[in-house]
Amino acid sequence: MSEAMNRRGFLTAAAGAAAAGMVAPEAGAGEEKFPPVQWKMVTTWPKNFPGLGTGANHLAELIQTMSGGRIKVKVYGDKELVGAFEVFDAVSRGTAEIGHGAAYYWKGKHPAVQFFAAVPFGMTAQEMNGWIYHGGGLELWKEVYAPFGLVPAPAGNTGVQMGGWFNKEIRSLEDLKGLKMRIPGLGGEVLKRAGGTPVNTPGGEIFPALQSGAIDASEWVGPYNDLAFGLHKAAKFYYYPGWHEPGTTMECFFNKKALEALPKDLQAIVLAAAQAANLDMLSDLTARNHAALEQLINVHKVQLRKFPDDVLRRLKQLSNEVLAEVAASDPLAKKVYESFKAFRDQAAAWHRVSELAYLTAREL
Ligand code: CA
Repeated sequence: MSEAMNRRGFLTAAAGAAAAGMVAPEAGAGEEKFPPVQWKMVTTWPKNFPGLGTGANHLAELIQTMSGGRIKVKVYGDKELVGAFEVFDAVSRGTAEIGHGAAYYWKGKHPAVQFFAAVPFGMTAQEMNGWIYHGGGLELWKEVYAPFGLVPAPAGNTGVQMGGWFNKEIRSLEDLKGLKMRIPGLGGEVLKRAGGTPVNTPGGEIFPALQSGAIDASEWVGPYNDLAFGLHKAAKFYYYPGWHEPGTTMECFFNKKALEALPKDLQAIVLAAAQAANLDMLSDLTARNHAALEQLINVHKVQLRKFPDDVLRRLKQLSNEVLAEVAASDPLAKKVYESFKAFRDQAAAWHRVSELAYLTAREL
Protein backbone atom coordinates (compact mmCIF):
# COMPACT_ATOMS: atom_id res chain seq x y z
CA MET A 1 0.00 0.00 0.00
CA SER A 2 1.38 3.40 -0.94
CA GLU A 3 1.74 6.23 1.53
CA ALA A 4 -1.06 8.19 -0.21
CA MET A 5 -3.46 5.28 -0.08
CA ASN A 6 -2.60 4.60 3.53
CA ARG A 7 -3.28 8.22 4.38
CA ARG A 8 -6.50 8.26 2.40
CA GLY A 9 -7.59 5.09 4.11
CA PHE A 10 -6.97 6.61 7.51
CA LEU A 11 -8.85 9.78 6.58
CA THR A 12 -11.78 7.76 5.36
CA ALA A 13 -11.85 5.84 8.60
CA ALA A 14 -11.65 9.09 10.59
CA ALA A 15 -14.49 10.62 8.56
CA GLY A 16 -16.56 7.52 9.22
CA ALA A 17 -15.90 7.76 12.94
CA ALA A 18 -16.82 11.45 12.96
CA ALA A 19 -20.04 10.73 11.07
CA ALA A 20 -20.87 8.15 13.71
CA GLY A 21 -20.47 10.81 16.40
CA MET A 22 -17.16 9.45 17.65
CA VAL A 23 -15.18 12.65 17.30
CA ALA A 24 -11.68 12.28 18.67
CA PRO A 25 -10.75 14.94 21.22
CA GLU A 26 -8.48 17.28 19.23
CA ALA A 27 -7.33 19.71 21.87
CA GLY A 28 -8.05 20.97 25.35
CA ALA A 29 -11.60 21.72 26.29
CA GLY A 30 -10.65 25.39 26.75
CA GLU A 31 -9.72 25.69 23.11
CA GLU A 32 -13.07 24.35 21.93
CA LYS A 33 -15.02 26.71 24.14
CA PHE A 34 -12.93 29.80 23.60
CA PRO A 35 -13.39 31.42 20.18
CA PRO A 36 -10.48 33.31 18.56
CA VAL A 37 -10.21 36.89 19.80
CA GLN A 38 -9.12 40.05 18.04
CA TRP A 39 -7.05 42.29 20.33
CA LYS A 40 -5.83 45.82 19.88
CA MET A 41 -2.34 46.90 20.94
CA VAL A 42 -1.87 50.63 21.39
CA THR A 43 1.69 51.91 21.58
CA THR A 44 3.51 55.06 22.61
CA TRP A 45 5.70 54.83 19.49
CA PRO A 46 5.13 56.05 15.95
CA LYS A 47 4.12 53.05 13.81
CA ASN A 48 7.15 50.89 12.90
CA PHE A 49 9.52 53.19 14.84
CA PRO A 50 12.98 51.50 14.62
CA GLY A 51 13.70 49.28 17.61
CA LEU A 52 10.68 50.33 19.70
CA GLY A 53 7.68 50.32 17.36
CA THR A 54 9.18 47.29 15.66
CA GLY A 55 9.55 45.71 19.13
CA ALA A 56 5.80 46.18 19.63
CA ASN A 57 5.13 44.59 16.22
CA HIS A 58 7.35 41.66 17.16
CA LEU A 59 5.41 41.07 20.39
CA ALA A 60 2.11 41.14 18.48
CA GLU A 61 3.45 38.60 15.96
CA LEU A 62 4.72 36.34 18.75
CA ILE A 63 1.32 36.33 20.47
CA GLN A 64 -0.43 35.47 17.21
CA THR A 65 2.01 32.76 16.20
CA MET A 66 2.42 31.17 19.62
CA SER A 67 -1.35 31.08 20.13
CA GLY A 68 -1.85 29.48 16.71
CA GLY A 69 -3.97 32.44 15.66
CA ARG A 70 -6.34 32.12 18.60
CA ILE A 71 -5.34 35.66 19.56
CA LYS A 72 -4.96 38.10 16.70
CA VAL A 73 -3.34 41.41 17.55
CA LYS A 74 -3.64 44.64 15.56
CA VAL A 75 -0.93 47.18 16.43
CA TYR A 76 -1.71 50.89 16.51
CA GLY A 77 1.07 53.49 16.45
CA ASP A 78 0.94 56.84 18.20
CA LYS A 79 -2.25 58.76 17.26
CA GLU A 80 -3.71 55.92 15.17
CA LEU A 81 -6.21 54.97 17.83
CA VAL A 82 -5.09 57.10 20.77
CA GLY A 83 -2.15 59.44 21.39
CA ALA A 84 1.06 58.19 23.02
CA PHE A 85 0.21 59.62 26.41
CA GLU A 86 -3.32 58.16 26.40
CA VAL A 87 -2.16 54.56 26.00
CA PHE A 88 -2.26 53.78 29.73
CA ASP A 89 -5.84 55.04 30.13
CA ALA A 90 -7.00 53.39 26.88
CA VAL A 91 -5.94 49.94 28.10
CA SER A 92 -7.16 50.67 31.62
CA ARG A 93 -10.70 51.34 30.35
CA GLY A 94 -10.61 48.48 27.83
CA THR A 95 -10.49 50.49 24.59
CA ALA A 96 -7.51 48.26 23.78
CA GLU A 97 -6.34 45.04 25.42
CA ILE A 98 -2.56 45.66 25.29
CA GLY A 99 -0.36 48.71 25.68
CA HIS A 100 3.32 48.97 24.70
CA GLY A 101 5.59 51.72 25.97
CA ALA A 102 7.95 52.52 28.81
CA ALA A 103 6.75 52.94 32.38
CA TYR A 104 8.30 56.40 32.88
CA TYR A 105 5.58 57.83 30.66
CA TRP A 106 3.09 57.23 33.49
CA LYS A 107 4.78 59.08 36.33
CA GLY A 108 1.71 61.32 36.49
CA LYS A 109 -0.31 58.20 37.39
CA HIS A 110 2.08 57.10 40.11
CA PRO A 111 5.65 58.20 40.98
CA ALA A 112 6.72 54.56 41.59
CA VAL A 113 6.43 53.64 37.89
CA GLN A 114 9.77 55.30 37.14
CA PHE A 115 11.71 52.52 38.88
CA PHE A 116 10.45 50.05 36.26
CA ALA A 117 11.87 51.93 33.29
CA ALA A 118 15.03 54.03 33.40
CA VAL A 119 16.87 54.90 36.62
CA PRO A 120 20.05 57.01 36.56
CA PHE A 121 22.92 54.95 37.99
CA GLY A 122 20.37 52.14 38.36
CA MET A 123 20.59 48.59 37.11
CA THR A 124 21.83 47.05 33.88
CA ALA A 125 19.50 44.99 31.67
CA GLN A 126 20.62 41.74 33.27
CA GLU A 127 20.16 43.18 36.75
CA MET A 128 16.73 44.62 35.90
CA ASN A 129 15.61 41.22 34.63
CA GLY A 130 16.94 39.60 37.80
CA TRP A 131 15.05 42.05 39.97
CA ILE A 132 11.81 41.95 37.96
CA TYR A 133 11.56 38.20 37.33
CA HIS A 134 13.23 36.80 40.43
CA GLY A 135 13.79 39.61 42.92
CA GLY A 136 10.29 40.78 43.74
CA GLY A 137 10.19 43.58 41.15
CA LEU A 138 7.32 42.19 39.07
CA GLU A 139 5.11 41.71 42.13
CA LEU A 140 5.66 45.36 43.05
CA TRP A 141 5.06 46.48 39.47
CA LYS A 142 1.76 44.57 39.48
CA GLU A 143 0.85 46.21 42.78
CA VAL A 144 1.44 49.67 41.28
CA TYR A 145 -0.66 48.92 38.16
CA ALA A 146 -3.44 46.94 39.89
CA PRO A 147 -5.59 49.97 40.85
CA PHE A 148 -5.76 50.80 37.13
CA GLY A 149 -6.95 47.31 36.14
CA LEU A 150 -3.66 46.60 34.36
CA VAL A 151 -1.15 43.74 34.44
CA PRO A 152 2.40 44.81 33.42
CA ALA A 153 5.29 42.79 32.00
CA PRO A 154 8.75 43.75 30.72
CA ALA A 155 8.83 43.61 26.91
CA GLY A 156 12.26 44.81 25.83
CA ASN A 157 15.50 46.33 27.03
CA THR A 158 17.97 48.67 25.36
CA GLY A 159 20.97 47.68 27.50
CA VAL A 160 23.32 50.50 28.58
CA GLN A 161 22.55 53.51 26.43
CA MET A 162 25.03 56.11 25.19
CA GLY A 163 25.52 59.40 27.03
CA GLY A 164 24.48 61.49 24.06
CA TRP A 165 25.54 63.86 21.29
CA PHE A 166 27.25 67.15 22.04
CA ASN A 167 28.74 69.93 19.94
CA LYS A 168 31.26 70.86 22.60
CA GLU A 169 33.40 68.75 24.87
CA ILE A 170 32.31 68.09 28.43
CA ARG A 171 35.46 68.54 30.52
CA SER A 172 33.89 69.52 33.84
CA LEU A 173 30.55 70.17 35.51
CA GLU A 174 30.81 73.76 34.33
CA ASP A 175 30.27 72.54 30.78
CA LEU A 176 26.84 71.19 31.73
CA LYS A 177 25.70 74.56 33.10
CA GLY A 178 23.21 76.21 30.78
CA LEU A 179 23.31 73.23 28.43
CA LYS A 180 19.94 72.70 26.75
CA MET A 181 19.74 68.97 26.29
CA ARG A 182 17.09 66.53 25.20
CA ILE A 183 17.12 64.09 28.11
CA PRO A 184 13.82 62.84 29.50
CA GLY A 185 12.71 61.42 32.83
CA LEU A 186 14.78 61.18 35.98
CA GLY A 187 17.99 61.79 34.01
CA GLY A 188 16.57 65.14 32.94
CA GLU A 189 15.88 66.05 36.56
CA VAL A 190 19.48 65.20 37.43
CA LEU A 191 20.81 67.36 34.58
CA LYS A 192 18.65 70.22 35.83
CA ARG A 193 20.26 69.98 39.27
CA ALA A 194 23.66 70.02 37.59
CA GLY A 195 22.71 73.39 36.05
CA GLY A 196 21.48 72.21 32.66
CA THR A 197 18.12 72.64 30.97
CA PRO A 198 16.47 69.33 30.14
CA VAL A 199 13.94 69.24 27.31
CA ASN A 200 11.67 66.37 26.33
CA THR A 201 11.85 66.38 22.52
CA PRO A 202 10.00 63.42 20.93
CA GLY A 203 12.27 60.94 19.15
CA GLY A 204 11.31 61.94 15.63
CA GLU A 205 12.07 65.63 16.27
CA ILE A 206 15.54 65.26 17.77
CA PHE A 207 17.54 65.56 14.56
CA PRO A 208 16.05 68.87 13.33
CA ALA A 209 16.20 70.33 16.86
CA LEU A 210 19.87 69.44 17.22
CA GLN A 211 20.75 70.57 13.72
CA SER A 212 19.03 73.93 14.04
CA GLY A 213 20.57 74.62 17.44
CA ALA A 214 17.18 74.64 19.18
CA ILE A 215 18.89 72.22 21.57
CA ASP A 216 22.62 71.98 22.34
CA ALA A 217 22.78 68.26 22.96
CA SER A 218 20.68 65.13 22.92
CA GLU A 219 20.70 61.58 24.05
CA TRP A 220 18.67 58.94 22.25
CA VAL A 221 19.48 55.24 22.66
CA GLY A 222 22.72 53.74 21.39
CA PRO A 223 24.80 53.47 18.21
CA TYR A 224 22.29 51.44 16.18
CA ASN A 225 19.27 53.65 16.87
CA ASP A 226 21.28 56.88 16.84
CA LEU A 227 22.89 56.07 13.49
CA ALA A 228 19.43 55.35 12.03
CA PHE A 229 18.36 58.85 13.08
CA GLY A 230 21.49 60.43 11.56
CA LEU A 231 22.35 62.20 14.81
CA HIS A 232 26.05 62.17 13.83
CA LYS A 233 25.21 64.71 11.13
CA ALA A 234 24.07 67.19 13.78
CA ALA A 235 26.74 66.80 16.48
CA LYS A 236 30.33 65.61 16.51
CA PHE A 237 31.08 64.40 20.05
CA TYR A 238 29.51 61.13 21.13
CA TYR A 239 29.71 60.59 24.89
CA TYR A 240 29.56 57.49 27.02
CA PRO A 241 28.41 55.90 29.25
CA GLY A 242 24.64 56.45 29.39
CA TRP A 243 24.62 57.02 33.16
CA HIS A 244 20.99 58.13 32.94
CA GLU A 245 19.67 54.95 31.23
CA PRO A 246 21.79 51.91 32.08
CA GLY A 247 19.15 49.28 31.28
CA THR A 248 15.98 50.92 30.06
CA THR A 249 13.10 48.51 30.25
CA MET A 250 10.23 48.61 27.76
CA GLU A 251 6.90 47.41 28.97
CA CYS A 252 3.68 45.92 27.78
CA PHE A 253 0.58 45.88 29.91
CA PHE A 254 -2.69 44.07 29.59
CA ASN A 255 -6.22 44.97 30.49
CA LYS A 256 -6.61 42.70 33.52
CA LYS A 257 -10.16 41.60 32.68
CA ALA A 258 -9.23 40.77 29.07
CA LEU A 259 -6.15 38.81 30.18
CA GLU A 260 -8.03 36.89 32.86
CA ALA A 261 -10.88 36.06 30.47
CA LEU A 262 -8.41 33.95 28.44
CA PRO A 263 -8.03 30.22 29.09
CA LYS A 264 -4.99 29.44 31.26
CA ASP A 265 -2.89 28.21 28.32
CA LEU A 266 -3.44 31.46 26.39
CA GLN A 267 -2.61 33.54 29.45
CA ALA A 268 0.67 31.64 29.75
CA ILE A 269 1.34 32.08 26.02
CA VAL A 270 0.77 35.84 26.14
CA LEU A 271 3.12 36.27 29.12
CA ALA A 272 5.74 33.97 27.57
CA ALA A 273 5.55 36.04 24.37
CA ALA A 274 6.32 39.17 26.41
CA GLN A 275 9.31 37.40 27.97
CA ALA A 276 10.55 36.36 24.52
CA ALA A 277 10.14 39.93 23.23
CA ASN A 278 12.05 41.22 26.25
CA LEU A 279 15.03 39.01 25.45
CA ASP A 280 14.84 39.65 21.72
CA MET A 281 15.18 43.45 21.88
CA LEU A 282 18.28 43.26 24.08
CA SER A 283 19.80 40.56 21.87
CA ASP A 284 19.01 42.50 18.70
CA LEU A 285 20.60 45.71 19.98
CA THR A 286 23.60 43.84 21.39
CA ALA A 287 24.14 42.28 17.97
CA ARG A 288 23.82 45.58 16.10
CA ASN A 289 25.41 48.21 18.34
CA HIS A 290 29.08 47.39 17.88
CA ALA A 291 28.94 47.46 14.07
CA ALA A 292 27.03 50.75 14.20
CA LEU A 293 29.58 52.26 16.59
CA GLU A 294 32.41 51.20 14.30
CA GLN A 295 30.63 52.82 11.37
CA LEU A 296 30.07 56.04 13.32
CA ILE A 297 33.75 56.25 14.23
CA ASN A 298 35.41 54.97 11.08
CA VAL A 299 33.07 56.14 8.33
CA HIS A 300 31.41 59.20 9.85
CA LYS A 301 34.45 60.28 11.90
CA VAL A 302 32.47 60.78 15.06
CA GLN A 303 34.61 61.65 18.08
CA LEU A 304 33.98 59.26 20.91
CA ARG A 305 34.43 60.68 24.42
CA LYS A 306 34.00 59.38 27.94
CA PHE A 307 32.46 61.64 30.57
CA PRO A 308 35.16 62.62 33.10
CA ASP A 309 35.02 60.67 36.37
CA ASP A 310 34.37 63.76 38.50
CA VAL A 311 31.38 64.67 36.32
CA LEU A 312 29.99 61.14 36.67
CA ARG A 313 30.62 61.16 40.42
CA ARG A 314 28.63 64.37 40.85
CA LEU A 315 25.82 63.16 38.59
CA LYS A 316 25.61 60.01 40.72
CA GLN A 317 25.28 62.05 43.93
CA LEU A 318 22.53 64.14 42.35
CA SER A 319 20.80 60.98 41.08
CA ASN A 320 20.70 59.52 44.57
CA GLU A 321 19.10 62.74 45.82
CA VAL A 322 16.47 62.67 43.07
CA LEU A 323 15.61 59.00 43.71
CA ALA A 324 15.32 59.58 47.46
CA GLU A 325 12.89 62.44 46.78
CA VAL A 326 10.72 60.27 44.51
CA ALA A 327 10.68 57.65 47.27
CA ALA A 328 9.73 60.21 49.91
CA SER A 329 6.76 61.41 47.84
CA ASP A 330 4.61 58.29 48.34
CA PRO A 331 4.56 55.14 50.53
CA LEU A 332 4.33 52.69 47.61
CA ALA A 333 7.11 54.55 45.76
CA LYS A 334 9.21 54.17 48.91
CA LYS A 335 8.51 50.44 49.04
CA VAL A 336 9.50 50.04 45.37
CA TYR A 337 12.62 52.18 45.78
CA GLU A 338 13.76 50.19 48.80
CA SER A 339 13.37 46.92 46.91
CA PHE A 340 15.11 48.39 43.84
CA LYS A 341 17.97 49.83 45.89
CA ALA A 342 18.54 46.67 47.94
CA PHE A 343 18.65 44.57 44.77
CA ARG A 344 20.94 47.06 43.01
CA ASP A 345 23.38 47.05 45.94
CA GLN A 346 23.43 43.25 46.09
CA ALA A 347 23.78 42.95 42.31
CA ALA A 348 26.62 45.49 42.39
CA ALA A 349 28.44 43.45 45.05
CA TRP A 350 28.04 40.26 43.01
CA HIS A 351 28.91 41.89 39.70
CA ARG A 352 32.03 43.46 41.23
CA VAL A 353 33.47 39.94 41.39
CA SER A 354 31.76 38.59 38.25
CA GLU A 355 30.78 40.82 35.28
CA LEU A 356 32.90 43.83 36.23
CA ALA A 357 35.93 41.74 37.24
CA TYR A 358 35.70 39.65 34.11
CA LEU A 359 35.17 42.56 31.70
CA THR A 360 38.14 44.33 33.32
CA ALA A 361 40.23 41.16 33.07
CA ARG A 362 39.36 40.76 29.40
CA GLU A 363 40.85 44.18 28.71
CA LEU A 364 44.21 43.41 30.38
CA1 CA B 1 17.46 57.40 25.96
